[in-house]
Amino acid sequence: MKLLENKVALITGASRGIGEAIAQKFAEHGANIAFTYLSSEEKAKALEEKLAAMGVKAKGYKSDAGDFKAAEQLANDVVKEFGTIDICVNNAGISRDNLLLRLTPEQWDEVMQANLKSVYNLTKQVMRPMMKARSGSIINMSSIVGIKGNAGQSAYAASKAGIIGFTKSIAQEIGSRNIRCNVIAPGFVETDMTHYLKGDEAEKWFKDIPLGRFGKTEDIANAALFLASDMGSYITGQVLSVCGGMTQ
Ligand code: NAP
Repeated sequence: MKLLENKVALITGASRGIGEAIAQKFAEHGANIAFTYLSSEEKAKALEEKLAAMGVKAKGYKSDAGDFKAAEQLANDVVKEFGTIDICVNNAGISRDNLLLRLTPEQWDEVMQANLKSVYNLTKQVMRPMMKARSGSIINMSSIVGIKGNAGQSAYAASKAGIIGFTKSIAQEIGSRNIRCNVIAPGFVETDMTHYLKGDEAEKWFKDIPLGRFGKTEDIANAALFLASDMGSYITGQVLSVCGGMTQ
């Protein structure tokens, strides 16, 4: 059974990693896909072709998630091209890991802009078509680091914790319009972002993960599918940790 037939999904940061897996999963379930990237031009083109070959409409947009004006332009372009926006996944994010003693103001700002301001930027824009349709699902990608913290990741953790407070507030603001807003908090997932976690370093973390392995991008995509579809129609303002049991 296809769960997102003819829905329009806008996914940020889908040229690689978790976003790419979500785009593919949603397309498998019949959604038309608009997605963004920052610099991976070729990967975006390849994904566009892959999704189109699955029989859905697909278009990649080069758009900096941290830029308010760009988010406004993006939402307008997507509505023009696709007719509406039913699902928005604020997935784009970066990490700039450093102990606080060495963390520069520039690094702090860069992380906040890409991870937290980005969620404000696009959520504000997609609310309009969703309010018009009196329906919508917004999914914001946090991290278990936003719940637990992690040494060397204070900026990243603060940005991801901010997403949780933002989401819970928005869920209260727009629930009456039948727009849901939830968070996914992944644990460690095998992507470019975690490429440094290999060998002994990975083994150390496995001890803290009850399921004894890192997550796969598809694990996160399955959770996103659940929250995006009518399977999650009575769920809003929640944080779904997809982390092999790291947070309980
Ligand atoms: P990734 O492999 O590094 O991919 C990041 C994606 O975001 C790329 O498509 C990148 O585009 C895009 N991006 C980065 N900055 C952007 C910006 N300013 N504007 C638009 N797009 C931008 O990351 P990932 O591991 O898939 O992570 C995806 C999300 O999950 C992030 O929010 C991350 O914090 C969160 N997360 C990841 C893990 C994990 O273990 N991997 C765990 C918890 C949470 P380009 O290809 O063009 O650079």
